[in-house]
Amino acid sequence: MAGRGSTSEAARERTARLLAQMAPVAAATAGSSGRRKTAAPPVTHTADVCIVGAGVLGAALAAVLGRKGYTVVVLERDWSEPNRIVGELLQPGGLRVLRELGLGEAVEGIDGQAIEGYGVFYGEEAVRLPYPPEAGEAPMGIAFHHGRFVMGLRKAAREAPGVTALAATVNRMWEDEEGTVLGVDYTSKDDGSKGRINAWLTIACDGFASRARKLLTKTKPAKTSTFLALELEDVELPFPNSGHVILADPSPILCYPIGSREARMLIDIPNSVPGKEYGEYVRAMTEQMPPALRAGALAALEKSPKLRTMPNSYLPAVPERKLGAIALGDSFNMRHPLTGAGMTVALADGKLLVELLGEVDDLSDRKATAKKLKSFYTLRKEHASTANVLANALYAVFAARDNEYLPFMQDACFEYFKLNRITRDGTMSLLGLLDTRPYVLVSHFFAVAAYAIVKTVLPLPYPTRIAQAFHILMSATRVIKPLLDNENVTALALLPNSLLGIEASISDFMK
Ligand SMILES: Cc1cc2nc3c(=O)[nH]c(=O)nc-3n(C[C@H](O)[C@H](O)[C@H](O)COP(=O)(O)OP(=O)(O)OC[C@H]3O[C@@H](n4cnc5c(N)ncnc54)[C@H](O)[C@@H]3O)c2cc1C
Repeated sequence: MAGRGSTSEAARERTARLLAQMAPVAAATAGSSGRRKTAAPPVTHTADVCIVGAGVLGAALAAVLGRKGYTVVVLERDWSEPNRIVGELLQPGGLRVLRELGLGEAVEGIDGQAIEGYGVFYGEEAVRLPYPPEAGEAPMGIAFHHGRFVMGLRKAAREAPGVTALAATVNRMWEDEEGTVLGVDYTSKDDGSKGRINAWLTIACDGFASRARKLLTKTKPAKTSTFLALELEDVELPFPNSGHVILADPSPILCYPIGSREARMLIDIPNSVPGKEYGEYVRAMTEQMPPALRAGALAALEKSPKLRTMPNSYLPAVPERKLGAIALGDSFNMRHPLTGAGMTVALADGKLLVELLGEVDDLSDRKATAKKLKSFYTLRKEHASTANVLANALYAVFAARDNEYLPFMQDACFEYFKLNRITRDGTMSLLGLLDTRPYVLVSHFFAVAAYAIVKTVLPLPYPTRIAQAFHILMSATRVIKPLLDNENVTALALLPNSLLGIEASISDFMK
């Protein structure tokens, strides 16, 4: 099915049209990828939708689109259970989307651990912050072994009608002479043979190191830092059923249960630390952990000295304008994983895409599909902008280097979490991705800045303190404004650039 109310007969008809359309194009574009003319690989499959990658989003999309009656080919280079240190905590907002997609079964029977909120450690202090109740119910996230969750999604995809799952590495998207994407070329994992998929729509879900992205956008990810992962065994976490954030110096540490006996710890390592010093760095960071976590981390280091790391990347979402293809998930948009928002944003993007495709009458009309999908980039802001800005802003504040004023924001932020129910519930709704309104985020962010300013200026507002307060406001603005700009939340980028210019003048004057 390629559009509303399609029948299998209509699907067959479209497939025939697709094959007829492809034959001359294939001949014309044979060898278009390289300088040497090479024969185009044989077309092995024809489908409404071709999905590159069966990770979190690719598998979820294949399952949902297949169930909706589309014919789908999903290509994955490795169908065995992934053993990765990413995507292990799904925020309550993400769990909600997963269920709305009809994929709640993927978190059943995987020894997933309910997450009811966070425990935050700052210096000698600690505070527990539950997700705020909604309609009398306590929202919950869930944490698990990433591979088990992905295998659940893949099972749903394989079992969905109309889905063909191929073990293959996608080499490139193939286009006609006008640059319309017509499908992908691949190498089979089984026998090394090459093949080609024809599809009306190709969806790139090939993750953070996406090859497919290169054809669709010029934007490249920037590495913000590295997460070094440890697996802690049989550790009694200070706060049960919670994520743990240690606001360490120079940057944060995360820990959460991923099984009934295992907990994942992720230690952020700034880019300035050379790879060969990671071991030493991590041992030094254990000094800042609460005793139970420290013991668990040291035992984990002892047990498996081989260090596992992943780059943390920032990739702002830039709309792609190629007919016949779209990139989603990490291949399209990434933010710092500090807040565990990646899977939620990816799944919510997937849900929006499926809804928009449902409004396309005929998927074989690529121009009509592209027109419909134009609104995707505006509509997704509702769920993605706040998640992206929050993650990157929190990381910028809590991993602040070379800025003497952001530590005031760190103190104020921790105080703000504890201040009262409104401040606590407001921030936890944002973190749980239960409230994704950008203005709520901006209000809380500047409320923290205001709190930092009041604490600085009072009780006696000496001129030096007033100047300090001004710099705190400007530093906070410098953190959030570019992030809002990158999300195109321009109306909320509150302070004009001219004010930032005034700050530079005041700094010069003070010197
Ligand atoms: C250290 C770290 C920790 C994180 N922790 C969390 C967290 O706790 N919570 C959260 O929500 N998010 C987290 N994230 C982000 C989250 O992991 C990603 O947002 C999410 O996995 C994106 O899903 P995806 O489907 O786009 O990509 P992936 O899940 O990476 O899937 C990509 C798939 O494509 C396949 N593939 C790639 N290239 C090809 C090719 N050429 N041909 C065929 N197949 C191919 C891969 O094998 C893979 O299966 C974390 C990220 C990092 C870096």
